[in-house]
Amino acid sequence: MESREDLMYRDEQMAPLDAAEIVPDTPIEQILKDTFGFDSFRDGQRDVVEHLLAGRSALAVFPTGGGKSLCYQLPALKFEGLTLVVSPLIALMKDQIDFLVRKGVRAARLDSSLSAEETRGVWDDLWNQRLKLLYVAPERFASERFLQRLRRSAISLMVVDEAHCISEWGHNFRPDYLKLAELSRELHAKRVLTLTATATASVAEDICRNFSIAPEAYINTGFHRPNLVMRAIPCSSRERDALLLSRLRERPRGATIVYVTLQKTAEQVARALADRGISARAYHAGMDGELRHEVQDWFMASPDAVVVATIAFGMGIDKSDIRYVYHYNMPKSLENYMQETGRAGRDGMESGCDLLVCPDDIATLENFTYGDTPTLQAVQGLVAHLLEQPDIFDLSIYDLAHEYDIRNLVISTLLTYLELRGIIASTGPLYNEYKFQPNTGSAEMLQGFDEARTRFLRAMFSKAEKGRTWFSIDIAATASELGEKRERLVAALNYFEEKGDLTLKVAGLRHGYRFVKRPDSTEDLAQAIFARFQESETRDIARLGQVVELASMQTCTVRSVLNYFGESLESDCGHCDRCLGEPVLPMPRLHEAEITEEQGRAVAALVGEQHAPLATPRQLARFLCGLPSPAASRARLTKDNRFGLLSRHRFATVLDLSS
Ligand code: ADP
Ligand code: MG
Repeated sequence: MESREDLMYRDEQMAPLDAAEIVPDTPIEQILKDTFGFDSFRDGQRDVVEHLLAGRSALAVFPTGGGKSLCYQLPALKFEGLTLVVSPLIALMKDQIDFLVRKGVRAARLDSSLSAEETRGVWDDLWNQRLKLLYVAPERFASERFLQRLRRSAISLMVVDEAHCISEWGHNFRPDYLKLAELSRELHAKRVLTLTATATASVAEDICRNFSIAPEAYINTGFHRPNLVMRAIPCSSRERDALLLSRLRERPRGATIVYVTLQKTAEQVARALADRGISARAYHAGMDGELRHEVQDWFMASPDAVVVATIAFGMGIDKSDIRYVYHYNMPKSLENYMQETGRAGRDGMESGCDLLVCPDDIATLENFTYGDTPTLQAVQGLVAHLLEQPDIFDLSIYDLAHEYDIRNLVISTLLTYLELRGIIASTGPLYNEYKFQPNTGSAEMLQGFDEARTRFLRAMFSKAEKGRTWFSIDIAATASELGEKRERLVAALNYFEEKGDLTLKVAGLRHGYRFVKRPDSTEDLAQAIFARFQESETRDIARLGQVVELASMQTCTVRSVLNYFGESLESDCGHCDRCLGEPVLPMPRLHEAEITEEQGRAVAALVGEQHAPLATPRQLARFLCGLPSPAASRARLTKDNRFGLLSRHRFATVLDLSS
């Protein structure tokens, strides 16, 4: 039996594997049939599986619904160690995991929907090397306790789903994704499989470079979906409802998604359609969970339901007979367009995708991008603050977001920029506040330790402050008072939790960094970082421009879309609006309302009130356009009835007015 001390200071040793789970000698065709019940591989699947089995990392670019999951689920059964699947959408993978479990595969997920007991079960299985597949969200790596467990697991395969998020050239750059490449090396993952449905050439290049994927292991089945009939139709906001209604009425009925940008538009359009006898319902993230499920179930079961939804709808929806996807509002980029239209016609039957291009939408869509760009002053302030830190430091992104009035995601991006420039390096996440509830008496808990350890544990627990139901320990302060390393304290608490002696909760997430090389000039650095934010803003605005342009192209619409992804069609698609000879309609003129005198007076009054969160022109412009910021939200200014006063106006116009 292991002694308590060994458990507490456990090293990297491995527990034995469960031999029953390993099927290295079964041919892949047989596993495909026996376990998954499929007769043959789909396009690209075999290629990917073979690269992985040969020990190579790979990038698979298949369209949505193309069968990317099988590319790791099947090899996972042939590997000895763990297959770690990182996906932002694990909540939607519940069915897949249930399927695997039914097939006798030890698969599990760690996400916030699990009960404490379920979580503990998964952690136990991970600790004891009993899992074949583990699904986690990228945020999970912010937990040092989770990392501690992973470090001693043998990871045969790490899977990164939605891998385009690691690239700044992609449409959905997420700084926490960029760290996954580093993490795969740190965890000694034997191979990595990256997956996405949308990657332009530069995004694919970025993914391959970051994860050391050889060019021949980049498998792209192509984006062309011959059964999708694509149309890009210019229309004004006034004619839009009538256009949508007439198409819904005139075409053969079928399951339909109508995509909109804003939650309130989803409600309005669904109501307008329902009033005219169309069986339509709204779906968006602002609705309560039960109602959302109900709408989803209703849609899944119906052959001709119409759901008017924000992009929250569709991810993870596996309905093969969606006949129509309408974009009532434009998507932000062609990547989004591909993803959203990709939900139509999974059964291979002809399906219509109508993109309504309405210039009046541009302001609202662009403003989302503008709302994210921090001011030069904010960047300067933040950079100066970071450079004042000692060589090793940690910070709270949440606190900084409020102090500098920049969204969390933007702070993370800024820190990532500093990492990419080789100025700082991340040393990992840490929690400063540990809270616990004892489940047994302290005498029992401390039984069996030697004298020195008992002294240490007593000293540690004596620093805990008792609240109403939880004790809390300030880890940094306690460690320095006791002259111990914080790791020892964390390991001790984790040990007791694993034994079930106490229930642990952490709070106060901080991120650790160290300086690699301090810059010569703080000002130059701030300018360079600011320029990078501006470039990213310019790129996002251009992406939207490409969507608008689609409606003015004279050439085959499908060809134009595929061109963006670096794919060339041998011949025109034959059934898009252009191929069918439908004329290119003129783009309606942008209809921008004048800013009224009354609005002008309201703005002047607001400025006169001298609210600190609205001090700079950009902060004021954001507020007037209805884009929340941490400082304005905290000051409850977003509840003020002037919040969003000019939301229908272009950000640049409002910014001019504010300057
Ligand atoms: P993606 O992640 O690429 O969007 P999924 O992995 O979720 O797609 O697969 C989509 C659907 O295709 C699932 O219902 C899956 O069971 C099915 N599927 C995957 N591979 C095959 C195959 N070889 N034969 C038949 N069906 C398959
Ligand atoms: Mg998928």
